[in-house]
Amino acid sequence: MLASPGVAGPLAAIGADSSDPCPAEQARRAAPPPNAPPPNTTPPHPTPPPDPRGPGPDTAPDYRERLQAGPYGWVHRPHWCVWVEPADSTGTATAVEQRWRAAVEAALVPWQGVVPLTLVSEPERAQVRVRRQRPPLRREANGRQRASHGRALLEVGEVQRRGQWQLEPQVVVLISPGQRQAAIQATALHELGHAFGLWGHSDNPADAMAAQPGPLPILQLSARDRASLGWVLRQPSRFAQP
Ligand SMILES: [Zn+2]
Repeated sequence: MLASPGVAGPLAAIGADSSDPCPAEQARRAAPPPNAPPPNTTPPHPTPPPDPRGPGPDTAPDYRERLQAGPYGWVHRPHWCVWVEPADSTGTATAVEQRWRAAVEAALVPWQGVVPLTLVSEPERAQVRVRRQRPPLRREANGRQRASHGRALLEVGEVQRRGQWQLEPQVVVLISPGQRQAAIQATALHELGHAFGLWGHSDNPADAMAAQPGPLPILQLSARDRASLGWVLRQPSRFAQP
């Protein structure tokens, strides 16, 4: 479980100082146009084509071929600042909100071992903002509307922090509170994987990033999830430097 805000720890909420890895946003402007068209949302969860290597957890060390770079290249950062919508202590649905918050924080823990991240208490310090909100219905190509419990939406902008402009991915993650706690945690684990750079889906239901999850909620990262993100982190990215 994570440290609560104000308690020292790798994921603790932090204040502003010169060593703060999550300085507040001072200004924002549109990013220069990219060279290629991109997905600006999570790809839908289609039934993937059969893997020529066959099914099974050990046939592939990762699923890099199922991932895609965005318009500005592979999305990764040396450090992520994450804001999670707090439970509203004055609201009537406090228990639901606290359960949701606890599930999302639990989902951040496995990712903490793979990407450097800090939980912040103010959204303007974050590149990833997790909101307690059911994603809107998505209309598919066949005209049918599809509901989901989670969605990650990527935007790219130029953001000024501590006086410096930087190209920055801004990811809004919507996680519905209308699920059992384990399902919220599994949904958050999956959508946070998109946020941290896994823009695509695994064909293996044992992976957190599975396109078609199995009957049991996946609450931990598989070796394939870790290896796939590790591969993304080794790809060139325009987000790594000022
Ligand atoms: Zn997904």
